[in-house]
Amino acid sequence: MRNRTSPNKLRPTRKKPNSPFGYFLVVILIATSLYVIFNQEPEGESFKNAKEIPISQVQKQYAEGQIKSIKIENNKLKIILKDDTKQLSYKAASDSIKDLGFDNAEIETEITIVNTEASAFWSSLLQGILPVILLVFLFFFLMKQVQKGASSAFSFGKSKAKLYGGKQKPTTFKEVAGCDEAKMELEEIVDFLKTPQKYTKMGAKIPRGVMLVGAPGTGKTLMARAVAGEAKVPFFSISGSEFVEMFVGVGASRVRDLFEKAKRNAPSIIFIDEIDAVGRQRGAGMGGGHDEREQTLNQILTEMDGFDNETNVIIMAATNRPDVLDKALLRPGRFDRRVIIDKPDLEAREAILVVHSKEKPIAKNVNLKDVARKTAGFSGADLANVLNESAILAAKQNSKTISQKDIDQSVEKVMMGPEKKSRLPTDKEREVTAYHEVGHALVGHVLPNCDPVHKISIISRGMALGVTWFLPQEDKHLYSKSKFEDEICSLMGGNLAEKIIFKEESTGASNDLQRATKIARQMVTDYGMSKLGPIVYGESHGSHYLGIDLSRQKNYSEETAAKIDKEVENILKKAYKRTETILKKHKKLLIKVSKELLKKETLSEAEFKKLIGKI
Ligand code: ADP
Ligand code: ZN
Repeated sequence: MRNRTSPNKLRPTRKKPNSPFGYFLVVILIATSLYVIFNQEPEGESFKNAKEIPISQVQKQYAEGQIKSIKIENNKLKIILKDDTKQLSYKAASDSIKDLGFDNAEIETEITIVNTEASAFWSSLLQGILPVILLVFLFFFLMKQVQKGASSAFSFGKSKAKLYGGKQKPTTFKEVAGCDEAKMELEEIVDFLKTPQKYTKMGAKIPRGVMLVGAPGTGKTLMARAVAGEAKVPFFSISGSEFVEMFVGVGASRVRDLFEKAKRNAPSIIFIDEIDAVGRQRGAGMGGGHDEREQTLNQILTEMDGFDNETNVIIMAATNRPDVLDKALLRPGRFDRRVIIDKPDLEAREAILVVHSKEKPIAKNVNLKDVARKTAGFSGADLANVLNESAILAAKQNSKTISQKDIDQSVEKVMMGPEKKSRLPTDKEREVTAYHEVGHALVGHVLPNCDPVHKISIISRGMALGVTWFLPQEDKHLYSKSKFEDEICSLMGGNLAEKIIFKEESTGASNDLQRATKIARQMVTDYGMSKLGPIVYGESHGSHYLGIDLSRQKNYSEETAAKIDKEVENILKKAYKRTETILKKHKKLLIKVSKELLKKETLSEAEFKKLIGKI
């Protein structure tokens, strides 16, 4: 999350604990003590290294006329000889000048007696009282700290949720460029929030949770804020990582507090960013999970379940790791709506650039479409960053407008910069990816038992450089042998397309072959779809853990194992041949569609079908 505008805090701000008087007192005290320390003896310094001699010697020196002056402070004698040597000596308190014989009129010695009583009075007063003052002051200071500490200890459990809205201009869908599909889906939520009666009257259940799924910086927070802005409801935002902050139990009470606040302000939206920080699969560490996280997650679930149909609070959560989320979060009545927010394609990138250049003086000859073309793989946040950087560049050069050169330079900077964690694919990689994905799509389209192609994309996400989505028409629970076979072909289509066009396969970042092999093996061992007949090979005792079958037992001989391997190989080989034939036959189409995909980066179902035409 970046560029978040400053929030209006809901909590009243606490008063500053220290009054100006307090500071004044401290300054006075410090000044006084410094004065006392340094100014006790104005000329003390010069006598610091003076030699200390017995009073008898002073008397002797006096008699011999060596002494220029004697200064007597209480019982201390500061003596300066005629050759300017300094000496110190002490007399008994009872000894007067006369007693010491310093009253000889014939001897030229200047004798002064300093009345130290006054300063002694002050210094003793300060020495006596200063510590007391300091102690009193310290006491009050500590009291204040304790009070403050107590109040902040009680606020641990308070959520740090931030409230948006109020005087701030609300975000609208207009400010979110691209993401049209997501907007369409969220339109419904806006309507729920605006006129809940419309739906409750019909007996419809108001949705509880919406999971926004997308890479960092794709505008999930922005989108959630726009939903709140469109519906004109308050927006409470908190990050999952904030829950996991301190002591056990704090997270849960924060959740309680957050939901409390949201309900009080209903209709409203709660936005939980980075929900994967708390919503990871519980117990995924095989025993000994993170207690705090688990409690927080449980509390979120409890709160969500506790909503009745009248509670008009919608919880939106954002994650870029939907795969690690606890299944319980995704159950109906919880985050059962999933809205994918993709990295922007060419068109969307241009739109985002337009949105963010609105308040910037962009030179007339700047071609934002061109910038969009160069920034494949950039997220919305990256693009916003590019324009911001270019504005800074232009300002540095004192120019009036932002030039194309400024923007180009910033694109490079953002691309290289620390912000950009994942490497952008090279042109070659993009080309290979395009053919690979179209290979999947084309084979899937030609074969009758594959699901229809929903979308093809070569915008890299995480490890995968591209994806092809097939959309199952209905929930299927029964799969036929021919469906499995077609599916394997479609999985092989990617690598084979690469091979046909570039004469070699690449590793890609996909597990296509792995998946194809797995299907083939299951056909043989689990579903009896091979020459080996209707026998299940390997017995499972049904203890699954995170999708991994822990207890599969081999209940067949090595001989059978070899036969199974042979069958799997046959299935795969047959599929390979079929796929190769299809792709070779439609090579022209493969090239045509791939080129279009390279240009557009994404192809929708309709666009794909139009390109393919009738086969
Ligand atoms: P996320 O929550 O997905 O990490 P954010 O919503 O925090 O991303 O996005 C960060 C910033 O990037 C936004 O404040 C906005 O300036 C910019 N941005 C991202 N996507 C878009 C978009 N589709 N349209 C306009 N601006 C966007
Ligand atoms: Zn693939």
